Amino acid sequence: MSLDRRAFLKLGLGACLLPLVGAGRAQTLVSEQLYAFGTLVEVGVATDRPALAQLAIDRVARDFVAQNRQWHAWKPGALSALNQALADNRAHQVDAQLCRMLREAQALSRASAGMFNPAIGRLIGRWGFHDDLPPTGAPPSARELAELIAVPPTMDDLVIEGERVYSRHPQLQIDFGGYAKGVALDLALDRLTAAGCNHAVVNLGGNLAVSGQREGRPWRIGVRHPLRRGAIIAVVEVEGRTAVVTSGTYERYREHAGRRYAHIIDPRNGQPAAHVASATVLHPNAALADAAATALVVAGPQAWPEVARAMGVTAVLLIEPEGQVQLTPAMAEHLRFVSPPASVRMVRL
Ligand code: AMP
Ligand code: MG
Repeated sequence: MSLDRRAFLKLGLGACLLPLVGAGRAQTLVSEQLYAFGTLVEVGVATDRPALAQLAIDRVARDFVAQNRQWHAWKPGALSALNQALADNRAHQVDAQLCRMLREAQALSRASAGMFNPAIGRLIGRWGFHDDLPPTGAPPSARELAELIAVPPTMDDLVIEGERVYSRHPQLQIDFGGYAKGVALDLALDRLTAAGCNHAVVNLGGNLAVSGQREGRPWRIGVRHPLRRGAIIAVVEVEGRTAVVTSGTYERYREHAGRRYAHIIDPRNGQPAAHVASATVLHPNAALADAAATALVVAGPQAWPEVARAMGVTAVLLIEPEGQVQLTPAMAEHLRFVSPPASVRMVRL
């Protein structure tokens, strides 16, 4: 579908691709939408060879469907087979790609001081987020949570010998919900680049990654306002390989007795993160950006700079639950606010 026929690629979460004003050299934006990773996915390629781009996009779409199955925490696939083996206290042979992800997630978890911790799958499941539908009813009891976090599993409890994996912690279950989309974004751009599509945008439910440019200019990405449904808080302009990944406590939550419980869980206390509305990270590596955005939400409005530094992230936009904004100079270089925030604090890392 060309840009002429469709105004712009727009999704409900995190961020979206904005229309281009005053475009230069005419290029077609070949794009396709599909449903994967529990969300709407869109792949766009700016090209003057639309047929070639379409073939590459079809490949990426097939990859997403396969990855979604392989990396799902609870539906049948490679990761759930590993989780079953871990629950049975068995060693398990994983494929090379899953093995790479486990190793990288270990390193990212360590760097984040455990704020990003995909080993807490059991806890996330107990909160009810292992379901396609948002959970309902009362949250887990304090006693249950206390049991689950008494000695919380960490990624370092996972032993990886070659491609053979086992756990030293009986409660360890892997949930890549905070990371797999980033990996998929990186692989999608690799795939598109290999096919000669050097100017592309991939949007996985509001997590985007771009390469190259849009008609000789940066790609324009709208960052969703976490507190105003349907509104954009800022526009980010990026070019060359860059991921724009957002984690938000407003995205998915459980509602009970007038309270909202977000899907991002603080591994330290077993409770949903409640002190950050959203964190947006720009980074060339989408997997790292994804893990970092989740970690910064958990770290909270005071501690996040330390975690960002440790994870090698310099461009951050963090929005607090009352609308106060914190951002780094590296983010400010790319960003323009479209709705004036309650307050803006520049944070040097
Ligand atoms: P994201 O939108 O990238 O922040 O990912 C949120 C998802 O990551 C949740 O739905 C869970 O599946 C998973 N998750 C929740 N809390 C954590 C955490 N502290 N560390 C790693 N993954 C988490
Ligand atoms: Mg994440």
